[in-house]
Amino acid sequence: MSTTASIVIVGAGQAGFTAATSLRDAGHVGPITVVGDEVHLPYQRPPLSKAFLKPGSPPFELAFRPEEFFAHHQIDLRLGERVSGIDRHRKAVEIAGGGSIRYDHLILATGTRERELFDRASLPTGVVTLRTADDAEQLRDRLIESERTVIVGGGFIGLEVASAVYQRGHSAIVLEAAPRIMSRVVSPVTSDYFQQIHRSAGGIIMTETLVGRVTTDGDRLSGVITSEGHSIAADLVLICIGVVPNDELAHEAGLAVGNGVIVNDRLTTTDPAISAIGDCARFPGPHGVLMRLESVQNAADQARALAQSLVGTPTTYDDLPWFWTEQAGSKLQIAGVADSYDDVVVRGTVESGSYSAFVLRSGELMACESVNRPRDHVAARRLLASGLHMATSDLIDETFDLKSASRTPAA
Ligand code: FAD
Repeated sequence: MSTTASIVIVGAGQAGFTAATSLRDAGHVGPITVVGDEVHLPYQRPPLSKAFLKPGSPPFELAFRPEEFFAHHQIDLRLGERVSGIDRHRKAVEIAGGGSIRYDHLILATGTRERELFDRASLPTGVVTLRTADDAEQLRDRLIESERTVIVGGGFIGLEVASAVYQRGHSAIVLEAAPRIMSRVVSPVTSDYFQQIHRSAGGIIMTETLVGRVTTDGDRLSGVITSEGHSIAADLVLICIGVVPNDELAHEAGLAVGNGVIVNDRLTTTDPAISAIGDCARFPGPHGVLMRLESVQNAADQARALAQSLVGTPTTYDDLPWFWTEQAGSKLQIAGVADSYDDVVVRGTVESGSYSAFVLRSGELMACESVNRPRDHVAARRLLASGLHMATSDLIDETFDLKSASRTPAA
């Protein structure tokens, strides 16, 4: 594609922002328009469940860049506007409320939205979700008043918010449907460790517990009832049970979708003039299996790879996934994806609160979960990216220099 082509990006989040700036950095000189339905300048979401919620934290600057940056880079930022349709024949996106924008290439970076547990309209005040800066501001205000917080969903975001509750000197009750917390993404070793530290910090973690309904006293929230009929009192209920991809635009335009917009290894959809990146994209992961990731690394790296392809340097996306979370005073960094594994070995000791769990399949390293061990994380990322085989005995031997080994080129 020519570097003078007109590019339209739908979604002004991590992926949309990074795509626009990376295109300019890579030498794209044609028009770039970013349409985002939130009113805020593009901003980072990870602090929303962490530093932003801390008591007494200074005013928080979430925006990636100030407004002038976009004008200076000739990025036309259309905030508070929603794309309601794609006319592939005319190569134009339609804006809800009127008007359309023509494109030579369209990038879908529409992210995800909270999975709903109940009909929102029927819920009392005090039942909240957390996805946007507005949600986080509302949650922060409510945390000041709240004495009984119930969090539905023991995934990363719910557990990070639970940690913010403890920091305010309160307890939080976390209700998780699965037998262990974060079960979709970490090994049992790491679930157990975090369950333990949450309990020590004042959390009550109830696994294999489903929420049946929300209860009220008059029109005020009074708590929840589990599907087994137990009542739990609450003046704040956060529902954090995962997300669904915003792939309806693509679906209605006749593109292939299925738990996300399906793309090839160049992030192109079934229409060569349309790409999809970030949380909304389902792409071929290792071994060609389609996957969808919800992380800053994935959104930003896909945006950068796509920008390269669009300016004429065809780039396959195969970056190593990595992720981090901070909970109850511990930092967990994950490299790789713990999927269909058959063994987990530990370097260091879980009891000391400083360890790395290496997740293996038939002796091959799939992922590494490092708790308060940033050096192991860096070495594991290199090892996973290089494909270098490591003996299990070396992985767990604290005297073995992982860092140096990870620098050895693969044979
Ligand atoms: P988003 O950031 O969701 O942006 C998509 C944007 O598109 C949204 O603004 C959406 O409103 C807009 N949009 C959708 N449809 C339309 C339309 N039709 N027209 C116009 N605009 C549209 N990741 C980590 O790696 N580490 C963390 O610690 C971490 N913490 C997180 C904490 C929280 C509270 C949340 C919510 C997420 C966290 N994540 C974290 C995940 C990370 O923020 C996401 O993976 C990342 O934001 C994905 O970027 P994206 O651009 O694909 O989607």
